[in-house]
This record gives sequence, C-alpha cells and structure tokens, in this order.
Amino acid sequence: MNWQGRMKALTFSYDDGIEQDVRLIDIFNRYGMKCTFNLNSGQASPTSSWVRNGVTIRRIDASRYAAVYRGHEPACHTLTHPHLENETDDEIDLQLRGDKANLEKWFGVTVQGMAYPFGTYDDRVLRIVVANGLQYARTVISTRSFNLPADLLRLPATCHHKDPALPELIDRFLALTPEQPALFYIWGHSYEFDTDNNWQVIDDACKALSGREDIFYCTNAEALLG
Ligand SMILES: [Zn+2]
Repeated sequence: MNWQGRMKALTFSYDDGIEQDVRLIDIFNRYGMKCTFNLNSGQASPTSSWVRNGVTIRRIDASRYAAVYRGHEPACHTLTHPHLENETDDEIDLQLRGDKANLEKWFGVTVQGMAYPFGTYDDRVLRIVVANGLQYARTVISTRSFNLPADLLRLPATCHHKDPALPELIDRFLALTPEQPALFYIWGHSYEFDTDNNWQVIDDACKALSGREDIFYCTNAEALLG
C-alpha cells in the first residue's frame, strides 16, 4: 500500500450521480477530502428523478459530469441500477461494460471500480465484474473497523454516514497510531442529507477529520489499489 508514506487513509463513496453531489463535493473540496462517485451513466439526465420524503432527487446530466466530479474518482454503478443477480449473463455484462465505456469516454480515465446497485450480487455477477476489468466492488456492509478489506470484490465500508457510531469512529481513527495500514471508509447517498435534513453530519465529520499530517485523503482506487 502506497499512501504517500502514511499508515492511515480516509476515503468516501457516494452513489447514483445526483444533484446533491454538487453540494457534497463543495464540502469535500473545502476540507481536502477525496471521494469516489458511483454513476449510472444510462440514466445521466435530470429527466431521471424520483421523490423521497417529499424531496425530488434528480440525476446530473452527463454533459456536466466531468466538471462536477473534477478531482474525484468516477466509478461504475451500472447503466440503469438493476438488481444484477436477477439479470442474465449478457445483461449483467452490458450493464457493466456499457457503464464503464460511457464513463471512460466522458472522463477520459480508466474506470477501476464500482458499487453494486442495492449492494446485491452473486458469484455470477462477481465473475462478470472481473471479466470487465473492474478491480473493486463495494457492498452495503459496514464493519465499523479500519482493517484493510480482505476481498476487494465484496468490499465493505467502515460505516454509512448516518451510523450513530460515526463520531466515536472519528475519535478512534484520529487517536490511532497504527502499525498496520488503517482505512476509514464512509459511504452513502448525498440525497440523504436533504431527505434526513442532516448536512451538518458530513460537514462536522469532514471538519474533524481534515488537516491531519498522518492521514492520506484519497479516492477508493488510491486507497485500495495504490
Ligand atoms: Zn445506487
């Protein structure tokens, strides 16, 4: 692991490519944080929207992707967000291959990872993920630990941002002087800050974790593949 000589790394993972990502990125940039955004390139238009807790959630248009996500990592989340394990092999392949190709064209980078829509997968899905050259794939499991993941294709997070243990995990991470590399991995959806009315949670977390010499602030690929 090359974390620029550091033993602690912090990374974030946010899904679905939605308008609230703009506000989230503003917070991340203010505090020097790096995030991986898992994008559904087959629905990258504000005509793709849904309502949750009275909040309308709109996708960001593909034409804005490169500008909005500059400085962060784009990753696959499939073309149209199906439960992959319910699809045929050909459809799984299309969902991953198509999403990866779109993102690579729009961002001009090699896409290295993904998050499973709904966090679900089976052995067939894993095989097709690997066949498409994707090196890590995030689930929706939380470990509340800073151990490096044992299996990058069944990648867990440390916690979701609304985990009540987040403040305690932040304190623990800041106090840690690890002998093994320690990874703090936080995930969620930026629309949840609107639907739960709790933007303060992520602002407070970033503020507390920012500006530390002993922490490598990085994307998922830098944390896991660097
Ligand atoms: Zn999703």
